[in-house]
Amino acid sequence: MKIDPPDYIKKLKPYVAGKPIEELEREYGVKNAVKLASNENPIGASPLAIKACQKSLLKINRYPDSSGHDLINKISLKFNIDKRSIVLGNGSDDIIALLCKAYVRPDDRVIIPDPGFLMYEISSMSEGADIVKVPLDKIDIDIDAMAKAADDKTSLIFITNPNNPTGSFISKKRLKEFMDKISKKVIVAVDEAYMEFANDYFCSWELIDQYPNLVTMRTFSKAYGLAGLRIGYGVMNPDVAEILNRVRQPFNTSLPAQDGACAALDDDEFLVKVQSLVIKEKEYLKNSLDELGFKAFDTSANFILIDLKRSADEIFEKLLYKGVITRSMSSYGFPNYLRLSIGLVDENRLFIKSLKGVAGL
Ligand SMILES: *Cc1c(COP(=O)(O)O)cnc(C)c1O
Repeated sequence: MKIDPPDYIKKLKPYVAGKPIEELEREYGVKNAVKLASNENPIGASPLAIKACQKSLLKINRYPDSSGHDLINKISLKFNIDKRSIVLGNGSDDIIALLCKAYVRPDDRVIIPDPGFLMYEISSMSEGADIVKVPLDKIDIDIDAMAKAADDKTSLIFITNPNNPTGSFISKKRLKEFMDKISKKVIVAVDEAYMEFANDYFCSWELIDQYPNLVTMRTFSKAYGLAGLRIGYGVMNPDVAEILNRVRQPFNTSLPAQDGACAALDDDEFLVKVQSLVIKEKEYLKNSLDELGFKAFDTSANFILIDLKRSADEIFEKLLYKGVITRSMSSYGFPNYLRLSIGLVDENRLFIKSLKGVAGL
């Protein structure tokens, strides 16, 4: 028996994740592989967060707090946000999915940057949306073109700031100018997964009083080093939050995730350590790549987009044999570009040395 899902589900393409280290070591027979592919935190997680997670394991026979009281309280105090504006998610991927579930009807239009984060497309298409892909302007999200693309059928627009996979940045002023052009009936979701790494750091949630249709998304997966725990949040108008809380699963965030994230917010020292490493190593990588004759684009995130001026798929594959996992951008429509997550000091040197070797320099 074959049961068919709706056509829009059949059209979905599966998410392609970065290669796990264990898979590479198994398939390529290399040891001590280095993963610089998924923009994870190379340092690890805050020791305070790990301790809090461990402690929470003693209580995992109970359901987690469905209201996420402690974590919401902590976020609210730390960033001075109304508690009613915060929705917790099983990663910020969950907030993306909740927005689509709550606000996107079949045949609505959802506007996304192209290339961009795959989850916008997958979650929107899962609700039967028509995807409108707005090409980047070189490496920048073309918010002017996105504003022009918005029409009566549009229910949702996704913006990534800093952008993945390019690392480009939209200033607060530019974001406001954009919001002024968008109907208040259209939700604008600003994905700030990498904001902690930005030079011109700002919190777009400061604008939600002025723009009740703006939703900020943040995650603990990157700067806080908790990708495996699955925890993120959205900040939005309390009316929107109330709707998302109706459609979310009551226990979408686990007990260790809630407790770990709480403790992570207390560990400013760890966050600063992570940020300093990224700033320092960004310089090293940029200079080394320049010397080798490659173009490294300026980045506001913890990864670098590199123009290799030759097939990125080939270099990616050859780097695998050296035990270095990166991300070829060919499937994003950039056949010569590689995205490199900034790693530990030794990992970055290994990358440069390996790249030099496989590129025959
Ligand atoms: C990594 C990343 C996220 C984080 O997703 P989580 O579900 O919170 O792990 C969100 N958006 C973008 C663009 C990312 O690159």
